[in-house]
Amino acid sequence: MDLQEILKTLSQNEKVELAQLLQQDLSAPNIELLKSNINKDQEILCPHCNSNDIYSHGNYKGRKRYKCKVCKKTFNDFTGTAISGIKKTNEFQQYISLVVESVSIRKASSQIGVNIKTIFDWRHKLLSSMALMNGQSFLGIVECDDKQLNINNKGDRHLDRKPYKRPSDRETKRGVSNDKVSIIVATDRNGNPTMQVAKIGRIDSDSVENTIGEFISTQNVLCSDSHPSIIAWAKEKKLEHHTFIASKQHVKDKCYHVQHVNSIDNRYERWVKRFYGVSTKYLSQYLNWFVFLEKVKKSRTQTLDLAKNVALDISTIKNYRLINNRYENLLIPHSS
Ligand SMILES: [Zn+2]
Repeated sequence: MDLQEILKTLSQNEKVELAQLLQQDLSAPNIELLKSNINKDQEILCPHCNSNDIYSHGNYKGRKRYKCKVCKKTFNDFTGTAISGIKKTNEFQQYISLVVESVSIRKASSQIGVNIKTIFDWRHKLLSSMALMNGQSFLGIVECDDKQLNINNKGDRHLDRKPYKRPSDRETKRGVSNDKVSIIVATDRNGNPTMQVAKIGRIDSDSVENTIGEFISTQNVLCSDSHPSIIAWAKEKKLEHHTFIASKQHVKDKCYHVQHVNSIDNRYERWVKRFYGVSTKYLSQYLNWFVFLEKVKKSRTQTLDLAKNVALDISTIKNYRLINNRYENLLIPHSS
């Protein structure tokens, strides 16, 4: 193939388009290369049972294969990760940078030349690979807040009621609070935020415990508004707890306040607007996404940061397949 000859046949506009395509292609992170670098200094675990008792088991379709001595299953470097089973790996790698830029599915589809359904599937695999980053042990002062969002059944075909025709239908319904989904937002002062779907309706202390309980201990000091469920939960956990009135942005002892968690709330609202409503089924996925972006916002290598998640997280596909289950569990009314 004589590239110079091909070049001569292109118009100026086509050359510009080609240059853009090349740049997109060449700047996409190479997951294969990333993984082999990671493998050099990290032990390889079985994605089926997490055992490290594994051995080489030849090659399959050009990829090194392993076998687990414990569960006897075979796997390769990408089993369980977001990229496993993806055939258009090059396009998938290009899409990673578009997720970092929060590009819409429609726009990504036309930019990469892959159909919308596939991009949708890729998006949620990538967001599943961010789950591990959404929630880690807190250091020092922790600010916590709850937030109510309207339930959104966008794209859900299994509705057990008629969809609302106009917003006023929702307002006139009895028991308004059960028409909302509550999320817990919490952050320490070390850039370690988390946002988690708590429950349908108002939060109780169990839902606070189930979302952030494992990340907090008596080493931390909690700041929040005076929500009775958060107060009850903090008391149960024996946490030092300072409460604030939302309308009065005051600070106690120069360091206790809820300003960080409030500004995370505000940034989330601004960010999520571009999606014109997020389906409740996928809400936890979007929260993973936003928290990931918050965590890497000072990084100069955001696309690479996400590519590393993809290469590393062997529980991604498991998480991805649980989206429906988690949603169904959320919809089961819990006695409280
Ligand atoms: Zn195994």
